[in-house]
Amino acid sequence: MSNKLNIVLFGPPGAGKGTQSEFLIKHFGLVHLSTGDLLRAEIQANSPLGQQAQSLMSEGLLVPDEIVIGMISNKLDANNSAKGFIFDGFPRTKAQAEALDRLLDGRGEEITAMLALEVPTAELVKRLLGRGATSGRPDDKDETVIRKRIGEYEAKTAPLKDYYTAQGKYTGIDGVGGIDEITARLVKAIG
Ligand code: ADP
Repeated sequence: MSNKLNIVLFGPPGAGKGTQSEFLIKHFGLVHLSTGDLLRAEIQANSPLGQQAQSLMSEGLLVPDEIVIGMISNKLDANNSAKGFIFDGFPRTKAQAEALDRLLDGRGEEITAMLALEVPTAELVKRLLGRGATSGRPDDKDETVIRKRIGEYEAKTAPLKDYYTAQGKYTGIDGVGGIDEITARLVKAIG
């Protein structure tokens, strides 16, 4: 297997994946792949894919697996010489996790570790409503949509803990505290 560093940053909406990714990509020289950011760019460009994703995202529902898997596949191919990747908001279903394993295997690579930011639900709702006041993200403005996203996470995404635990790759990280404190916990876990 290659010596590339491929990290899945895992956790519910509002857990701080985007914030922590910013530091980790700089520190370890990795490429950041956020499916949420990629989807929002498609919506911004008003592409057919963006049009398909928009209503689902505004309701707090996941977009179809084929769409996000296709986007990730393209980005892996476009970054062949990267030292590694941080996957942020992907995989979110078992089908996505299996597809990611296949895509990486085809490149002679694998997931190094899954780091899961653990944050209580009440704190998530508070953070997302706070972000909604400034981010301009429609899905952060409405508490019903926020709770729907957390529900989707619990139903479809949280079970991936078992998938990565079975591979010996799961590490839980306390996601409550100062940003720098949490970064230090992640860096220590990556080793
Ligand atoms: P958050 O995790 O804070 O909700 P994201 O930017 O990761 O923010 O995701 C925003 C929305 O984009 C999700 O609610 C979902 O509709 C869609 N989305 C992002 N990544 C995926 C994915 N891997 N699979 C399906 N839908 C996704």
